[in-house]
Amino acid sequence: MIEFEHVTKTYPRTHTHALKNVHFSIQKGEFLYITGHSGAGKSTLLSLILRRITPTEGRVFILGQDLSRLRPSRLPLLRRRIGMVFQNHRLLPNMSALDNLVFALRATGERGNLEHRALLALRQVALAHKRKAYPVELSLGEQQRVAIARAMVTNPPLLLCDEPTGNLDPDTSWEILELLNDINIKGTTVVVATHAKELVDQLRRRTIVLRSGQIVRDDDAGGYSL
Ligand code: ADP
Ligand code: ADP
Repeated sequence: MIEFEHVTKTYPRTHTHALKNVHFSIQKGEFLYITGHSGAGKSTLLSLILRRITPTEGRVFILGQDLSRLRPSRLPLLRRRIGMVFQNHRLLPNMSALDNLVFALRATGERGNLEHRALLALRQVALAHKRKAYPVELSLGEQQRVAIARAMVTNPPLLLCDEPTGNLDPDTSWEILELLNDINIKGTTVVVATHAKELVDQLRRRTIVLRSGQIVRDDDAGGYSL
């Protein structure tokens, strides 16, 4: 599903070695945390998966594709198969919850009864009753659940989350984590980049720890501190 083959990323302008010889793979159906302090290289790793940037050395394989051989014209197709959830939900403020999902479906070129599909996705995050609400009319946790529904509405095989509970209190964080766990159990590969120790401890899953761009730990069901 994801394979990093001795990947080094150096940002040329600042000569920052953001990742150094990073080597790991993630199988279909796994749930993985990527942790480490701010600056450890988590965002760089996610950007490589999305091919927003290319490695300085090494190769990245995503969904069976060698990204170094991926033609630019095929890039939208790759990204369509990867759901993204951010720290800030990034919902469109001038659209209802339902319309945010319909918009996402339409943007990927989907046709047919999009409202019905959007409603099904909202139902899966238990927010069908809030379909007409605008983001500002939702709690932070609800906003993030809508964002997760939006990421999943196209049924991507891979879901990437960048600090998905960054703005949330512990109870709401746990709710989001349970939701991500459910999504994983239904078969989607889930990758969560976070520095939230509580999160990683609460639901123990494989954990890769980055420090200054290097993998210093890769444990099944790791937990943050042992
Ligand atoms: P520091 O003194 O700089 O905090 P640490 O060794 O405590 O050094 O941590 C370095 C990095 O490794 C940090 O990014 C931290 O988040 C991560 N880290 C260290 N130990 C663990 C652990 N047991 N589980 C998860 N992450 C860890
Ligand atoms: P994290 O997400 O764990 O906070 P990042 O991947 O953002 O870590 O950053 C890793 C290192 O690369 C940091 O030293 C950061 O300053 C640097 N970095 C990140 N993005 C860029 C960029 N676009 N240009 C130059 N340096 C960058």
